[in-house]
Amino acid sequence: MQIITDPAEMQSIAESLRLQHQFIGVVMTMGALHEGHLSLVRLARQKAGTVIMTIFVNPIQFGPEEDFHRYPRPFEQDAALARSAGIDYLFVPSPEQIYPEGFLTAIEPGPLSSLFEGRFRPGHFSGVATVVVKLINITRPHIAIFGEKDAQQLAVIRQVTRDLNIGTSIIGAPIARQSDGLATSSRNVYLSSSEREQATVLYRAIQYAEQETGRGRSDLAAIADEAGAIILTAPDAVTDYLCFVDDETFEPAEEAASGKAYRLVMAVRIGTTRLIDNWRFACP
Ligand code: AMP
Repeated sequence: MQIITDPAEMQSIAESLRLQHQFIGVVMTMGALHEGHLSLVRLARQKAGTVIMTIFVNPIQFGPEEDFHRYPRPFEQDAALARSAGIDYLFVPSPEQIYPEGFLTAIEPGPLSSLFEGRFRPGHFSGVATVVVKLINITRPHIAIFGEKDAQQLAVIRQVTRDLNIGTSIIGAPIARQSDGLATSSRNVYLSSSEREQATVLYRAIQYAEQETGRGRSDLAAIADEAGAIILTAPDAVTDYLCFVDDETFEPAEEAASGKAYRLVMAVRIGTTRLIDNWRFACP
């Protein structure tokens, strides 16, 4: 595995790989690697001959009150994990290399980016879209794998790459979970042991929604209210949002219609840690 920090060097390697007809897959991360990231790498390995991983804690997708400075950055450990997962190139630029003096451009992804995560994190999706387009331009991938854990982010990236005619195929990967259902996340390390226990309410709310829709209920708003009550059984939980949405537009959905797909999306703060999760269901 080759570690590269310079964007121009990464770009010229990617260009020459393309000239050699290599099929390139990229997995973009902010590091602090866990099973979720590794599941994306396995999918990339199945589909691509050359796999590039990027590790970049992107300052412009964090709000001023958010955890940019305390975000975990265990680089040595990440590099070892990336190597054993079969990464060919690990691209780890600095913020100054990605946003040199004079950098001015931003991508605005449209209405999707002001709902839910975008409403609670103004500017977040513009920051994500901007860095994703830059990293695609630098790594020149044929495919890019993103986790459904960040389902709205995945929808924004699909929108932006489609709108801007970026030739890279965007592939979604299933959510990796721990044995009690908590979605793996770099932010889980912030949880105290009591908070970690309480964090299982997110998956319990999902299981409840799965059970109720599974027995044919279509009153999504009521199911979401009931699932919300499960979240509140955790004493330190504060729900930012918990709602069924149309799986494509992320517009809130009250009632399920036959043949359509929906997603239960949620963001819950447990103490000072903000967790997100979601679950997709197709109405028969
Ligand atoms: P992050 O490092 O948190 O920015 O995540 C990098 C990529 O890994 C994104 O595409 C995430 O959606 C994906 N990812 C993070 N956690 C998980 C998970 N538990 N399951 C699947 N994908 C994940």
